[in-house]
Amino acid sequence: MAEFTMELNDEQKEVRDWIHGFAADVVRPAAAEWDEREETPWPVIQEAAKIGLYSLDFYAQQFFDPTGLGVPMTMEELFWGDAGIALSIVGTGLAAVGVLANGTEEQIGTWVPQMYGDPNDVKVAAFCSSEPDAGSDVASMRTRAVYDEAKDEWVLNGTKTWATNGGIANVHVVVAVVDPDLGSKGHASFIVPPNTPGLSQGQKFKKHGIRASHTAEVVLEDVRVPGHCLLGGKEKLDERLARAREKAKAGGVGVPPAGGWGRVKNAAMATFEASRPAVGAMAVGTARAAYEEALEYARTREQFGRPIIDNQGVAFQLADMRTQIDAARLLVWRASWMATTGKPFTSAEGSMSKLFASEVAKKVTAQAVQILGGNGFTREYPVERMHRDAAIYTIFEGTSEIQRLVIARTLSGMPIR
Ligand SMILES: Cc1cc2nc3c(=O)[nH]c(=O)nc-3n(C[C@H](O)[C@H](O)[C@H](O)COP(=O)(O)OP(=O)(O)OC[C@H]3O[C@@H](n4cnc5c(N)ncnc54)[C@H](O)[C@@H]3O)c2cc1C
Repeated sequence: MAEFTMELNDEQKEVRDWIHGFAADVVRPAAAEWDEREETPWPVIQEAAKIGLYSLDFYAQQFFDPTGLGVPMTMEELFWGDAGIALSIVGTGLAAVGVLANGTEEQIGTWVPQMYGDPNDVKVAAFCSSEPDAGSDVASMRTRAVYDEAKDEWVLNGTKTWATNGGIANVHVVVAVVDPDLGSKGHASFIVPPNTPGLSQGQKFKKHGIRASHTAEVVLEDVRVPGHCLLGGKEKLDERLARAREKAKAGGVGVPPAGGWGRVKNAAMATFEASRPAVGAMAVGTARAAYEEALEYARTREQFGRPIIDNQGVAFQLADMRTQIDAARLLVWRASWMATTGKPFTSAEGSMSKLFASEVAKKVTAQAVQILGGNGFTREYPVERMHRDAAIYTIFEGTSEIQRLVIARTLSGMPIR
């Protein structure tokens, strides 16, 4: 029987130290510059690609770490370096997961490598789900995909927003409505291959934080993609839609698929529960970085003839910051371990980890600004940037309110839309 341990194994420690080295030596020194430029840090992504850190192989290895800790460890170290640059490095992974979760083996083999490019010609990918009128309420999505049977092509029309790497991506994964009568059950995901006519970048957002990560609207005007770009294939989609229509006709009952309705609901929920701890780990990375800066500052800054950490008011804040960060990491690790080992998320533990860690990051970075006093308020010190960056964690991949809603509905047994 496997023994319980909270210790990383030697291989994990080696990988963690390797990522930390890159974050400290390459990412952190570039952070202020790319934050000011508000542009994708292509040279840093290329550096990451050269050492194998920006590659499908590396993420696959971390994803398949049997303990579940590979992904959170990677996220924490990279985001400790800088959140904006780190998101530029891991943003492609969001689109890749969209294909891994819904695509056929052939689709995975064709498109995922094109998302990353190669070290001499790095590429990024975008996952486009959110729309101006469909953020938390994904079911009100309007982007339409219509099948042109004569040409075996899908025609996409609509406007996506907030897409990380939107418009600059080599491959876009676009979620669209194929049957408007079925709400979110009538959605499907499509690959839009490189240089497809009709896809263009709309407004690029000037943001409060994570400014080194590109966020933009993606406009789709009569974008035609071949039939094989429908993720999972037409047969699987038709079966899924037929089941959903039967269910809708029967007032929500219908003929269950193999394994029953419960399995379908759990599969959808399990996907979100498994992806949210990764965002929690990003938040832990930013929080830890700000805490370390604040601790160092409190030890060295003297007022009234002694280091400010000698004041209980400052020392206790640091004690609380560190305690909350460690608690957040434990929730993230628990949820990641549950996802990898196939444990059921009976209390929405993945959402819990994202909720807690993102709120901790916001709080801890604000406390760090306070501990640095006037310096914390300037761009001379990184906590100012970390504080701006941390605000994203309670917003993307489901806001804190949506996490609470999911947790509460899971606990009470109410359906999650
Ligand atoms: C920098 C950045 C990068 C992003 N990257 C991507 C990406 O790559 N791909 C992608 O598809 N999307 C992306 N997003 C979109 C992100 O997921 C959405 O912004 C998020 O889901 C919230 O949607 P919204 O902005 O429309 O807010 P809204 O849904 O309009 O919410 C506004 C407020 O109302 C609250 N609220 C809404 N409904 C409820 C409710 N039922 N109960 C209580 N409160 C509620 C929310 O919690 C929030 O506080 C990104 C966003 C940002 C800012």
